[in-house]
Amino acid sequence: MRQSILEDVIVIGAGASGLTAAADLARAGCSALVLDARERIGGRIRSHHEPGLALPVELGAEFIHGEAKPTFALIEKAAGAAVDAGGEHWSLRHGELQPSHDLYAEIRDAMKATRVLKEKDLSFDAFVDERLKDELSSEARETARMLAQGFDAADTKRASARAIVEEWTGNASVEAPQFRPLGGYGPLLAQLAGELRGTKVRLQLDTVVRSVRWKRGSVEVKGTFHGRPFSVRSKRAIVSLPLGVLQRPVRAPDAVRFTPPLVSKRVALKHLAAGPVLKVVLRFRSAFWDTIDDGRYRNAAFFRSPAAAFPTFWTALPVRSPLIVAWAAGPKAMRLEGADRSQVIGAALESFSSLFDRRVDVDALLESAWVHDWQSDPYARGAYSYVTVGGDEARKQLAQPLLDTLFFAGEAADCEGEAGTVAGALQSGSRAAREVLAGMRRR
Ligand SMILES: Cc1cc2nc3c(=O)[nH]c(=O)nc-3n(C[C@H](O)[C@H](O)[C@H](O)COP(=O)(O)OP(=O)(O)OC[C@H]3O[C@@H](n4cnc5c(N)ncnc54)[C@H](O)[C@@H]3O)c2cc1C
Repeated sequence: MRQSILEDVIVIGAGASGLTAAADLARAGCSALVLDARERIGGRIRSHHEPGLALPVELGAEFIHGEAKPTFALIEKAAGAAVDAGGEHWSLRHGELQPSHDLYAEIRDAMKATRVLKEKDLSFDAFVDERLKDELSSEARETARMLAQGFDAADTKRASARAIVEEWTGNASVEAPQFRPLGGYGPLLAQLAGELRGTKVRLQLDTVVRSVRWKRGSVEVKGTFHGRPFSVRSKRAIVSLPLGVLQRPVRAPDAVRFTPPLVSKRVALKHLAAGPVLKVVLRFRSAFWDTIDDGRYRNAAFFRSPAAAFPTFWTALPVRSPLIVAWAAGPKAMRLEGADRSQVIGAALESFSSLFDRRVDVDALLESAWVHDWQSDPYARGAYSYVTVGGDEARKQLAQPLLDTLFFAGEAADCEGEAGTVAGALQSGSRAAREVLAGMRRR
């Protein structure tokens, strides 16, 4: 069995949060070992570079939502740039593509004005259908529900209305401007990994963690390295495992077993959910949507078809490219559970062609397609987290360190308003590193 020397810290997970924590620890001169089950860094950021295609194919995170200060700071450090992803929104209404009704402002104002959530949290469905019945038209209520399902990947029967209202009326609202890192998210992760070179922090991929035995001042991590038994000890660990992995039943073969179990995290884990997303990237022979109907949709950034299996699509605007992303999240993604790759791509194509009244033979124009199933991915188990009814404190509880020994990072443990995003993951990693360093100073 391979046993490493005692490190100051073990970081479990080399996604955006784990790598940020590692880079901060490296800068502070700590020794650390960063472990990840995959053969690559990045976790739920997965930029694929296809020969002959100028743009990266982003199978995970793609946009920067709103202010996202930690992401812009990282872009600056990597001498990168961000491009504005704004453009027109078109929706299928009464069988015809029309410029989307701008209902966001109406929804936001109604949300801001209401007092009901101050007293009691409700499910998003109950809030919209019962409490905003008189304030919003039925179309605005349906739009709000579609946004919660599509943007937050939430099951609106379970999702906390309070959490969604707070998010939509804050920095990360659906109206906030959106950007993309130029060249994709990949170079930003490379920047973080590059910051480990020449430091006392080592990165070890292909290491699946199976168990974490811990007590004050001591952690033993066991698992496999390249498929062979592996174990390592440390004084403390940062756990940056995805929420969906932390929620696996203890007997599931891909569960990470903590001994003693994380009893104080149970309530938090119950009040958070890992939202499902199916994202399909379609590459066509040409960007036919630029020219159809006399070029009406030439500046389209988003297309919506509320009733379709894949209700949301986006183009690569401002870049002119024959790529379309098909997006199904929340209940729409659940409906496609168990479908194989070709069925998923088929559903995405059928949904896209329905936008144009099936006048275009999209199958014939398709060159290639990429899908990553984040729900069945054993190292993700969902796309990103949302809060369920009554879970006001859940993120804080999840983030709380245990006995100055286990520290928690990851988008689900961000408590500064960016949960669910790369920015949230980055700032949770920095927060966990600060907690570790403060604990080390206290000793
Ligand atoms: C389809 C999709 C689209 C998204 N779009 C956006 C977007 O446009 N903008 C945005 O800001 N965010 C987006 N997100 C969310 C964003 O990707 C995540 O919030 C962020 O990347 C999470 O980082 P993390 O470090 O918390 O978790 P992760 O990136 O999941 O890192 C956790 C790491 O733990 C590792 N791990 C898991 N189990 C084990 C184990 N047993 N042993 C060892 N290692 C293990 C994983 O391999 C992974 O590398 C999207 C996510 C998805 C899936």
